[in-house]
Amino acid sequence: MKKQLSVILGALLSFSVQVSAYQCPVNNVYHVLVNHENSIEPDFVAGEVVMPDVLFATKGDIQKNYMEKTAAKALEDMFNDALEEGVHLIAISGYRDYERQEVLYEQAVASYGIEQKGSAKAGQSEHQTGLAMDIGYLSQSFGDTREGIWLAERCHEYGFTIRYQQGKEHITRYIYEPWHVRYVGVELATRLFEEDKVLEELEYCCPPLQNQAMRVYCDGKYQYKPQVLIFNDVEYLSVREISGLLGIDLSYKNGQIIAQYNNKTIMFNTKESDFFNNTLINIDGYTYVPVNEFLSNFQVNSQFINNALHIFV
Ligand SMILES: [Zn+2]
Repeated sequence: MKKQLSVILGALLSFSVQVSAYQCPVNNVYHVLVNHENSIEPDFVAGEVVMPDVLFATKGDIQKNYMEKTAAKALEDMFNDALEEGVHLIAISGYRDYERQEVLYEQAVASYGIEQKGSAKAGQSEHQTGLAMDIGYLSQSFGDTREGIWLAERCHEYGFTIRYQQGKEHITRYIYEPWHVRYVGVELATRLFEEDKVLEELEYCCPPLQNQAMRVYCDGKYQYKPQVLIFNDVEYLSVREISGLLGIDLSYKNGQIIAQYNNKTIMFNTKESDFFNNTLINIDGYTYVPVNEFLSNFQVNSQFINNALHIFV
């Protein structure tokens, strides 16, 4: 039986046809979307991490007292201004690398079971970016304290947003965390505050980082939104995205990408494009392949029609 799978790509086909009241923050590292739907690479950090000069719950030169340096400066300003108003903020936990998050996740699952909602899987925690800080104490009652209220009302002035809001649990898929702030820059933080939105709800519905988000919250639900590049009139998708979409098995060995599907294996080198008639594109460590040509190797016919990728399987 012939089945048709359509992937609507909408206005994302090319940067030049994007129409949005708000410019897509493509490649703004401070807008990176990290959640249960969008993982980051194990070595991803938003920038150099430093120790902000603020009051910490646990003193010392330890990993969780670090933060990305622009976010760290904003945190210092926020803590200083708060103190001048008699509000005593305490930093609990900031940067956390992939390995540390792996340990914390395993501990949380061991204690509370697989359904626990307090700890993210490695690669899915904002703390890995260096842009998040837990402040005050880790209880929802913190939101009712003088410090918690000040933070909720004022943190956007310094570029932070309360990431996991009350009433937005169905979108963020996190419990309300009045203690967890995330740096996104003053402009976006102010917009989120004024429009009462969380990062997932931004109406432009595009991946915050080029090549990065595969699923975004859009029109009230999670949608697959691949980033399509057009080069010499040929549509490209990252090999990871197109493989994820079709269930093509991907592995990497000795610099070769090995893709297996329909009992067929193709191998190609990301540095050379001998395998393809069209050249391959490498951006930030991601390999983009010409979609139609890539799929035809697996006897999968595909075609872009009216901004939609139609795959015939
Ligand atoms: Zn946190």
